[in-house]
Amino acid sequence: MRRRRAALAALAVTHALQSTPHRLPPLAASSLALDEATTLPFGPARDAAAMAIALDEARAAASRGEVPVGAVVVDDTTGTIIARAGNAVEASHDATAHAELRAMRAAAQFVENWRLQDATLYCTLEPCVVCLGAAYAFRIPSVVYGAPDHRMGAAGSWLDLPSETHPFHSLNIRGGVRADESAQLLKDFFRDRRKAGPRM
Ligand SMILES: [Zn+2]
Repeated sequence: MRRRRAALAALAVTHALQSTPHRLPPLAASSLALDEATTLPFGPARDAAAMAIALDEARAAASRGEVPVGAVVVDDTTGTIIARAGNAVEASHDATAHAELRAMRAAAQFVENWRLQDATLYCTLEPCVVCLGAAYAFRIPSVVYGAPDHRMGAAGSWLDLPSETHPFHSLNIRGGVRADESAQLLKDFFRDRRKAGPRM
């Protein structure tokens, strides 16, 4: 735990928009200070702040030609973002390379523990059954999402996984945080893609 705390204290923010999920690099000696943007406020303001960064990841995904969905994982004990990722389905030819799954994997690598028991997953879109199933596997206690996904959403839109009683893990999930912005990004993306004509 001490090691993990020390690692978290050494976090530096990066707003570099990379196509791979990234662990935040350790604070370089030349860095001035921890960027306040990585340490989120406690309380209700956290939802909006975390989702803003997830939305940045979604926009970055769109600029790479990926469906604009973004996700971040926040360490609830420190309020620090420990991983962020966008969709990478097209680039990786992997239908499960969703932002949420990539962010959870990166977070687990960062804390060197697959049990993310003190973390919240923020994602711009209602998670699909793969990602929500993964949240159970990673022991994530809380998931906060933006817009509903009427095609693939597993939190009530298509399936309703959280309504099922799990034998040992409970997961709190709620949606609607900055939902309009998330939905608009998706709408714009698919409109532009339709305009561009049939995909090869
Ligand atoms: Zn998914």
